[in-house]
Amino acid sequence: MNARADFPFFSAVDDVPVYLDNAATTQKPACVLDAVRNFYERTNANIHRGAHRLSREATDAHEAARSSVAQFLHAPSAREVLFTSGCTEGINLVAQTLVYSGLLKAGDDILVSSDAHHSNIVPWQILAERVGANLRPVPLTPDLHFDMQAFLSMLNRKTRMVAIPVVSNALGLRLPVEDITKAAHDAGALVLLDGAQSAAHEPTDVQTLGCDFFAFSGHKVYAPTGTGVLWGRQELLEMLPPWKTGGEMIHEVSFERTSFNQLPFKFEAGTPNICGDITLAVALNYIRHLGFSAIHAHEQSLISELCSGLGQLPHVQLLGGASARASLVSVHVPGVHHYDLGTLLDQMGIAVRTGHHCCQPLMQSLGITGTTRFSVAVYNHASDIERALQAFDKALSMLR
Ligand code: PLP
Repeated sequence: MNARADFPFFSAVDDVPVYLDNAATTQKPACVLDAVRNFYERTNANIHRGAHRLSREATDAHEAARSSVAQFLHAPSAREVLFTSGCTEGINLVAQTLVYSGLLKAGDDILVSSDAHHSNIVPWQILAERVGANLRPVPLTPDLHFDMQAFLSMLNRKTRMVAIPVVSNALGLRLPVEDITKAAHDAGALVLLDGAQSAAHEPTDVQTLGCDFFAFSGHKVYAPTGTGVLWGRQELLEMLPPWKTGGEMIHEVSFERTSFNQLPFKFEAGTPNICGDITLAVALNYIRHLGFSAIHAHEQSLISELCSGLGQLPHVQLLGGASARASLVSVHVPGVHHYDLGTLLDQMGIAVRTGHHCCQPLMQSLGITGTTRFSVAVYNHASDIERALQAFDKALSMLR
């Protein structure tokens, strides 16, 4: 795969680093950058409320983007696709509207996985506090996989919501989300899947996954920041009350009462990120054009090279051991601080992420403060991995 030529970032300046921080955010292909410029140069107008040509064109482009996202997710209807500012906002939307939906009550259980990102823990924690429900973390096995046996034993008729990542952002391990979803549904619970670390790397089919909600961020799928999607099953979205309120989400307003718009607009108060949403669809089309099988083959070859190289370095512990990884790998080196490693790597022109990766409960359970995380994307080359491994080895020899 030679996608790098599609990304102006890698040729715009001379001292561009080896970029292996793709789980945090991705660079943007020229088609997305062009689409941003094109929108503001040719189509920019507010949507839904104008009689003039530009407003109609912008509205059509925005709704066409929604249909593209629906296709990308294999959603039954574009009405189930809500534009958000990112994965965090999507999860918050569900957690905060469930409070008033009657779907969750005092004494109910909300299950999250122990390797979840804070954005898939804290909204549920606050929801649990508000309604008197219980937030229950599902433990990991000793090799850091989702503990299916423990999960099955925790499921009961009080379980109302199961919120889990498809791929853990700190470990890079994929959870058996299909089996988890089925078991959760058999117990009568709803399932929210956090697709932040899967959407750019594997095909998403919400119907095959069988989940009730699926959230992801645009900036991790080669689209601009401030974009994202929450997909939800229509009958559930109909049951959830509006979240943010204001323009566009209403049907009729008087000082006595307000009636609300139909889906998806009920959840999209105010002027949306019109250009961002349109260019998110451009980014998803770019991914589709590359093809998930080619993406998977390419990223897997990079990750296995990375894992085997890291595994050969003395004292380096791969979190999750020899398991297969999605598109990232985290390492811990006893006696060496991850921040020092990250700083030295940066000085050698390698951009990686260090720290707790917004997974403090996981780090606490591992007895560490953080890891050094390498994450790949379509534009990385085998030479990036070689350079990163050499630099890592050198940094280690300086620190140990
Ligand atoms: N969930 C996971 C698994 C993530 O990795 C991230 C971000 O790193 C998020 C949620 C939150 O994404 P955002 O900050 O784009 O809303």
